[in-house]
Amino acid sequence: MDLKNITILSLYSELKERRISCREVAQVFLEHVRKVDPKVRAFLYVNEEWVLKQAEEADRRWREGRAGALEGIPISIKDNILIKGHPTTCASRILANYIAPYDATVIERLKREGAIFLGKTNMDEFAMGSSTENSAFHPTYNPWDLERVPGGSSGGSAVAVSTRMGLGSLGSDTGGSIRQPASFCGVVGMKPTYGLVSRFGLVAFASSLDQIGPFALDVEDTALLLNIIAGFDPRDSTSADIEVPNYLTFIRENVQQKFVIGLPREYFSGDLDPEVTKILEEVIKALSEKHTIKEINLPHTKYSIATYYIVAPAEASSNLARYDGIKYGFRADAKGLIDLYKKSRSLGFGKEVKRRIMLGTYALSAGYYDAYYLKASKVRTLIKEDFERAFKEVDLILAPTTPTPPFKIGEKTKDPLQMYLSDIFTIPVNLAGLPAISIPVGLTAERLPVGAQIIGPAFRDELVLTLAYQIEKTLCLKLTPPIL
Ligand code: GLN
Repeated sequence: MDLKNITILSLYSELKERRISCREVAQVFLEHVRKVDPKVRAFLYVNEEWVLKQAEEADRRWREGRAGALEGIPISIKDNILIKGHPTTCASRILANYIAPYDATVIERLKREGAIFLGKTNMDEFAMGSSTENSAFHPTYNPWDLERVPGGSSGGSAVAVSTRMGLGSLGSDTGGSIRQPASFCGVVGMKPTYGLVSRFGLVAFASSLDQIGPFALDVEDTALLLNIIAGFDPRDSTSADIEVPNYLTFIRENVQQKFVIGLPREYFSGDLDPEVTKILEEVIKALSEKHTIKEINLPHTKYSIATYYIVAPAEASSNLARYDGIKYGFRADAKGLIDLYKKSRSLGFGKEVKRRIMLGTYALSAGYYDAYYLKASKVRTLIKEDFERAFKEVDLILAPTTPTPPFKIGEKTKDPLQMYLSDIFTIPVNLAGLPAISIPVGLTAERLPVGAQIIGPAFRDELVLTLAYQIEKTLCLKLTPPIL
């Protein structure tokens, strides 16, 4: 099997023609994980016996003519999404021995289509971070340069796909956690419109921002995965009851569509790395031959980090109150109830999680609520209105995904603000609830991946994918990390 040139769709046609069995596929990928994962450490959990059992069931469904759209395709899942009967740790000590009692809606849907779960991927603890260094268990390493971070918080998923330890993955994106690691690892990663994909069975970080989305090796595979996971779910009260198009059919039918593309001045000025700037300029030049390019303003961009770091910790402090040492996971030895709460939380949570809980609790406390949380909510509305105004003039927005290529391990761990700033281009999109994708568009002189971000109006995820598909076809990049 040529792992360098494989995609979900190409492997699916091999399976369909019975040139290879699901069991053989599973064995190839397990062998590959055994070989590659010790170097990059993308996984927190791989259960070989379970993988082979899933593969046998998939082979049976092929034989019986009941194969789903992903029958026999190996994928991975970020460790904050529940798969019944298997661990979900959120890379936290406090959930180290937690076994999921039910399936997330996205998992039910993937199971229905026959996907094979290779395992659960590493992440920053409770998805708080941008480098996967905040995992309580171990960091994950960037396959393009093992001394660099893969991004985060879905770093394990991005690395797994980039190194072909599975051909797709699901992550979660609260402030950039799918797009930023996708950019750092040279793969496609998409945050769908808020409400398009059910959050039922996703461990909550900041409920008004969290969204599950796919990682894949190309845009067609991304569209296929989105087809499966998108759509109304009555078990998530923020799920949108709307008609969902077939994304794969849509992008294929609209590859010729011309767009008016907006370039936000605020995203291209100041601190953007010169190599990132240069690579993006080439993309823009190529696009300008066909599309109309227009400069736009998103004037409240500069407030987005400050706004996010009130809203997200406030919601997190409330969501994480449930980890009290009694209902879930880790319980410390203690004398009496209050001591039990204190010790379980002190020992169970890592430093960044505690920092967020304290920030959030402070921002929500009586007397400070108006000054912080209420104010942040108002600024959030202004940020959303910036985008609404822009989308009256343009169809889509093109921007960098991250201000720099992947940074060194340890480079930003001492200075949380520096770490927070690496999400400056992704956070506004979550605050506004919009769809956005990161696709690989080049390599720096040091051969580190650079991503471009496409942002669309709410519930126009198909347009975001269509422009991504066109860029992919224009650039014809095939990115395989040197570790392969
Ligand atoms: N890096 C951001 C944070 O630390 C975003 C994380 C995410 O999207 N889950 O909160």
